[in-house]
Amino acid sequence: MENQIAAEYEVKSKKLICPHCGENKFWTRQTLMNTRASTFFGFDWANRKAQNYICDNCGYVFWFFDRNEKVI
Ligand SMILES: [Zn+2]
Repeated sequence: MENQIAAEYEVKSKKLICPHCGENKFWTRQTLMNTRASTFFGFDWANRKAQNYICDNCGYVFWFFDRNEKVI
């Protein structure tokens, strides 16, 4: 699911603010973490979904992992 329209978001009841430029508008995408790299590094992230929020101004990317949600 992608949303190319920049909007304001909250994560865990905290408003997202870009740490680099201070922008508060982001667009989102979901990334599936099923790469061989994650196995190589020993992370337990295989087949997990990550939610990305990308700063509309400078392109800074937030990554949020849902520890409990496993994508099959
Ligand atoms: Zn920014």
